[in-house]
Amino acid sequence: MMNLTFDELGNEERELLNEAEKAITDAYNPYNSQARIGAAVRTKSNKIIAGSNIANVSSTVNLCAERAAFAAANAEGHRDIIALAIIGTDGDGVIEDPIMPCGVCRQFMEEYLTINGGDISVICSNSAKSKIIKTSLKELLPLPYAGSSEKK
Ligand SMILES: [Zn+2]
Repeated sequence: MMNLTFDELGNEERELLNEAEKAITDAYNPYNSQARIGAAVRTKSNKIIAGSNIANVSSTVNLCAERAAFAAANAEGHRDIIALAIIGTDGDGVIEDPIMPCGVCRQFMEEYLTINGGDISVICSNSAKSKIIKTSLKELLPLPYAGSSEKK
């Protein structure tokens, strides 16, 4: 895990984070937290696909931006995800610390490691892109649930 600033990211990482930031405008959250999160994934073939969070009156039904981006990629036939970037705001305010994937998203993304092998690079940013954590899914979920039955 590395703490970085935006300028310390590589070109592709900055591009991915900027696309995640654009996706914030599509976020839907009229409820209390008003968190508006954007995420973007990069495929092995260098395609970038973004998603944003979709809140629900029943908060357990909320869809995080990360899973929305993965689902959007899936809808375009891409499961070869190699990188993810996340950024967001809190209503009209800023989020001071980098936004980290929740436990549900970590387990959701773990499935892609099973599909693809390898790892997924994860860039987590605060609203201002001044505090960024660069990590990976394996680092975020070192001992994932592996299931109790074989894949068919
Ligand atoms: Zn999540």
